[in-house]
Amino acid sequence: MHSSDTGLIYFDEVRVPQRNLIGQEGAGFVYQMQQFQEERLWCAASGLQSLNNCIQWTVEWAQERKMFGATLADQQWVQFRLAEMKTEVEALRALTYRACELYVSGQDVLELASMAKLKAGRLNRIVADGCLQFWGGMGYTWENKVARLFRDGRLGSIGGGADEVMMGIIAKTMGVAKRKTA
Ligand SMILES: Cc1cc2nc3c(=O)[nH]c(=O)nc-3n(C[C@H](O)[C@H](O)[C@H](O)COP(=O)(O)OP(=O)(O)OC[C@H]3O[C@@H](n4cnc5c(N)ncnc54)[C@H](O)[C@@H]3O)c2cc1C
Repeated sequence: MHSSDTGLIYFDEVRVPQRNLIGQEGAGFVYQMQQFQEERLWCAASGLQSLNNCIQWTVEWAQERKMFGATLADQQWVQFRLAEMKTEVEALRALTYRACELYVSGQDVLELASMAKLKAGRLNRIVADGCLQFWGGMGYTWENKVARLFRDGRLGSIGGGADEVMMGIIAKTMGVAKRKTA
């Protein structure tokens, strides 16, 4: 995310020429909420490959890393942890594919897209952290690709609506939280 400038921008008395108006004046918030379904599905879908890569790199590293006459991959805890993480990623894939299929068929996927985004954000943290641990000190270096996912993937729980915002939406679609009326 080094290439993504992060800072505050202030708009003060900014005049936008008519020719640059997108859609109807005053409807920007509604447009933003509508596009969020796609952005959140993208967040979930784009994470699938990087999560799988992270696990695969760690499998290869664990098979290579020797300690006390065995490899790291010989440790059952390491095997189980990697197996569990891979299972979680496949569950995210199933959720994401289902949501995408419904979206493409024209259905409202507010709840499923929010769930997929939430789960992807969570897994970006869990998988990157779990894998980084197995890389030991090597995982703590800037050059390490797993370390990069640890830093960059962290944005998944913040950008495009934070995890808490996703949970708020899901709680509303479930009916457990009240929807605000205008
Ligand atoms: C690297 C990077 C790239 C970005 N790229 C873009 C971009 O391209 N386009 C764009 O529009 N924006 C972009 N953003 C902005 C991003 O979408 C916002 O940072 C994000 O939506 C969170 O808003 P905020 O930073 O104002 O946090 P806040 O709204 O201040 O929230 C802070 C924290 O409070 C908690 N919180 C928030 N709301 C609730 C709630 N309802 N209930 C409980 N807890 C809550 C969450 O833990 C949240 O992380 C980017 C940000 C970063 C860091």
